[in-house]
Parts: sequence; C-alpha cells; structure tokens
Amino acid sequence: MIPYNKPFLAGPELGCIEQAIRAGHLSGDGEFTRRCHRFFADTFGFGHPLLTTSCTAALEMAALLLDIGPGDEVIMPSYTFVSTANAFVLRGARVVFADSNPLNPNLDTTQLEALVTPRTRAIVPIHYAGIACDLDPLLATAQRHNLVVVEDGAPAFDSYYRGRALGSFGQLAAFSFHETKNIQAGEGGMLVINDAQYALRAEIIREKGTNRTAFFRGDVARYSWVDVGSSYLPSELTAAFLWGQLEHWQSIQHARRRLWHTYNDALAGLRALGVGLPVVPDYATVNGHLFYLVCRDEAERTALIARLRERGIMAVFHYLPLHASPYYTPQHDGRALPWAEHYGARLVRLPLFCELTAEQQQYIIDEVLTFYQTR
Ligand SMILES: *Cc1c(COP(=O)(O)O)cnc(C)c1O
Repeated sequence: MIPYNKPFLAGPELGCIEQAIRAGHLSGDGEFTRRCHRFFADTFGFGHPLLTTSCTAALEMAALLLDIGPGDEVIMPSYTFVSTANAFVLRGARVVFADSNPLNPNLDTTQLEALVTPRTRAIVPIHYAGIACDLDPLLATAQRHNLVVVEDGAPAFDSYYRGRALGSFGQLAAFSFHETKNIQAGEGGMLVINDAQYALRAEIIREKGTNRTAFFRGDVARYSWVDVGSSYLPSELTAAFLWGQLEHWQSIQHARRRLWHTYNDALAGLRALGVGLPVVPDYATVNGHLFYLVCRDEAERTALIARLRERGIMAVFHYLPLHASPYYTPQHDGRALPWAEHYGARLVRLPLFCELTAEQQQYIIDEVLTFYQTR
C-alpha cells in the first residue's frame, strides 16, 4: 500500500535529541528552541516566533491574546480544520463562516465586507494546501474595520504572497509541525507575533500566566502569576527534533515541490474533462504541501478513492465544511456556502511525501489517468 503520508526523517533528529538530553535541559525554551526561533525570524522575517505544542495551541493562544469572548464574532472559511474554529469557540465567540472561492478552497475575499458587523473582532484566513489566500483585499477590510488578522498558516511553511512569506502578514500567525506537515516534529506548532504589542503577553500566556520568560532573560527579579495562561511550550526534545528537520528544510522543500509539479504536469489534461487541479494565482507560490484533484461530483470521488485503494494507493478526502458539522450547524446562521460544500464533497488528495519514489508516483498517475479513461 502506498500511504497518503509518511513522516520524513531528515537525518539529524536523533543526534539533536541526544544532544539536548546530554545538555541536561529537557523542558522548554532551551538552546534548540532558541535556534528554531532565530531560524524563523531570520529566514522568513517573522516578528517574534514562539514554538508551541501544536498549531491548535498557537490558535488558542491567539484567542486568549486578543481577549476574545462572548459577544465577539470571528470570520474564517468554513473549509478549514476544526482547530481554526475551536480556538475561538472555546472563548465563547461566535464563528461567522465565509465561503471558499471558485478557483481554490481559500476564503472568498469578495464576500468579506458583507460578513463584518460591529461585533467582528478578527479574520482568520487559512492558506489551503500552502497556497496563499488573497491577502491584499483581506488586509484592507481588516484595516477599514480595525480587525485583527490571525493567519492560520498551518500548511504554509515556506510559501509566499507577492514575494513575502506567509505568516508575516497577520498581527498573529499560527504554524503546525504535525507529522503531516512539510516540516514536522510529530506534534508541534508555532505562534508568530508580528505586532510587537502582543509579544510580552504572549510569553506570559505561554508560560502558565507567569512572567517566567522575562525572569530567565533577567528582566525581572522573580517570577509570579501575572495573567491568565496555560502550558503551551514544547519540550526541548520536540525543539531538537524540529531543529534536525530545519537543518534540511531546503532539500525537503525541493523534494516536495518536485513531486507536486510532477503531478500537476502529468494530470493537467484532466482539466479538459472538467476535473479540477490546484489553481495557483499569480500572487501565490507552491510549497508542495499537498496535491489535490476536484472531482466532478461526490460519487466520482468515492469511486476514485475506492479504485485507488483497490490498486494499493491511499488517496483521501479532506475537510468537511464546519458550518455543516454536527456541532456547529445549530449555531450557524443558515447561509448556504456552496463552494465550501463543493470542495467538501469533491476534493481528493493524492499521496505526497519525501520518500515517494518516481516509480510509485508514476504508478499513481497512471492509475488516476486510467480511472478517467474509463469514464
Ligand atoms: C494541520 C492544521 C491545523 C492543526 O495543526 P496541529 O498542529 O495538529 O494542531 C490547523 N489548521 C490547519 C489549516 C491545518 O492544516
């Protein structure tokens, strides 16, 4: 069976973990965490990166930092992962779901203004498949109404909008190092603080509501409970593993982008049949996070997934739109979101991981093309 994903080991991870153990600092914020922070600041121009235990944790920190509470509204696409919404729902906010756009599953920014009310506090775009959402109109709406932008950049490592790294646009941005992402540490994440006014409080919220980080920096004489917070920092073992990956980030990205372009070139002919391939607007880039097809209807997707599975290939669908989820349907305002449902019913992801061989990928391509020859 060719799996959908296989977590990649770049090589140095075990050695880095051993080094962390020998250094005797196993809890969070040691040397490996500092190296990771410096990497993200230097490589992508992120203001103030803070490793977290997951992207979910980073989004929860964002909701705490913004003092989101009952009565507040947060706009985000319905076609996203549950954590994007849960982080704000946990604080008592109402989620206002935006539709996807016809070109790709990202938020349709042409509809954004109509969703803003006096209660709106934040917009949370995601960059689906690592392909940038159209940020200029989104940022303009946010500025016009004084809203905070939190980028859910979970899949957006090393991807760009008009030449600038995703994760550097929002006042806040969240990333994931879950084993399904390009750079992984099993579980892991990062909150990026690009608006300096949030930096000090973010450190406090991440350290159980204490000013321990400032204490270790020597800024205060002792540390105490100064605010709400929780435990959001990963151990040095996680940071060491992550550093082992980051030492090879360019070769990982090269391998993934190559696989993505091979699929895209080999399957381009399916467009003529009405099958969708990823649309990468000229303001966006490909980071090789995932490759998808959009089938012509749900029955076709079911048949394609079943056929590929028979042939030893794990292809998988993706998000079920959150506005139509068992949990949120009763709280959703009832607006139809046809494009979110379109992708929810038709999108299928093909295997893409560093160790996928050229032969395996050709086999997958042949099987997909054969499926469509017979329909
Ligand atoms: C993977 C993902 C998450 C969750 O990341 P975790 O690190 O597993 O918490 C959140 N949002 C999006 C868009 C994702 O793709």
